[in-house]
Amino acid sequence: GFRALRMVKDDGGIRAEFQTLPLSALPDADTLVQVQYSSLNYKDGLAVSGKPGVLRGYPMTPGIDLVGRVMSCESGQWQPGDAVILTGWGIGERTDGGYAQRARVRSEWLVPLPAGTTPQWAMSVGTAGFTAMLAVMALEDHGVTPDGGEVLVTGAVGGVGSTAVALLAAAGFTVTASTGRPAEADYLRSLGAAQIIGREDLPALKRPLEKERWAGVIDSVGGATLAGALASTRTHGAVAACGLAGGSDLPTSVFPFILRSVTLAGIDSVTCPMPRRRAAWERLARDLPAARLEEVTQIHPLTEVPALAQQILAGQVRGRVVIELEES
Ligand code: NAP
Repeated sequence: GFRALRMVKDDGGIRAEFQTLPLSALPDADTLVQVQYSSLNYKDGLAVSGKPGVLRGYPMTPGIDLVGRVMSCESGQWQPGDAVILTGWGIGERTDGGYAQRARVRSEWLVPLPAGTTPQWAMSVGTAGFTAMLAVMALEDHGVTPDGGEVLVTGAVGGVGSTAVALLAAAGFTVTASTGRPAEADYLRSLGAAQIIGREDLPALKRPLEKERWAGVIDSVGGATLAGALASTRTHGAVAACGLAGGSDLPTSVFPFILRSVTLAGIDSVTCPMPRRRAAWERLARDLPAARLEEVTQIHPLTEVPALAQQILAGQVRGRVVIELEES
């Protein structure tokens, strides 16, 4: 049997349970993977805390990320022993995910572990880092360049935010990091932020358009923060909307779009098509300073996931959390 963290639902409600399961408990798919590491994202925090909206059925193994070795593959796309990464595509939501020592998944969802990287590195990136990479690529696609001026990252101490700061700084951008945790200013500077501003010091949304400031924005907060970012983005600038840690509403107007040609680019890491997915992982392997990423990563065993889930929802996690699936 293999160990798994399962979310179960009964008369007592929804709760997390550690179980030992037979392979026959895994969903039907063509590729069996020995999971070495998973990670903790905000979405995993919601799932493990029993919040509605993430898991589409019960019982379910959460964990939207995993890295491991292929044990068998019926499609022939992978060989036993291949090192593979899987993020999104509905694992840990619609089908069993990474919080287990074994996963059975579809071969076309897998990405090869980039040469020169380690499984632990892959999960310190995880969905959060992959999303940050997609956001940087979206800004670039819309013409945002390092010589265009300041770029803003909101929710900067979080997983998406930390990686976005590091990636942008490595690409030569001048990064302003916004955070509700001013005590983490040194941390953000070590990632490459040129300037730190408080959550409350962001240009407030008092008018439909504020003074032009940002050439580009990577936002994981949503709500008034995203609206304020749009209103203070420079003409022809772009904003990548990644998350809703501060709210899912968007109290904006059309003015940033029709008077400044601002682009609002949506980022969905779950369904990102395979060619862009592979390109993003190759670029992460090349451009994201591995040593810097290691500094922002903490590693925990599966047993600590329920407690960590509470912490990430409370906005208390710094950087990235990797979950180790030790073989028993
Ligand atoms: P995380 O590590 O918890 O980071 C979220 C950060 O947002 C926090 O560290 C905090 O940053 C800030 N924040 C939290 N609560 C806030 C509030 N009430 N008001 C303003 N700021 C607040 O989570 P994550 O894994 O990086 O994910 C961040 C967001 O992106 C989540 O909403 C997640 O669902 C979303 N996401 C989306 C995708 C996608 O494909 N679109 C992929 C991954 C994540 P400071 O402490 O620095 O203020």
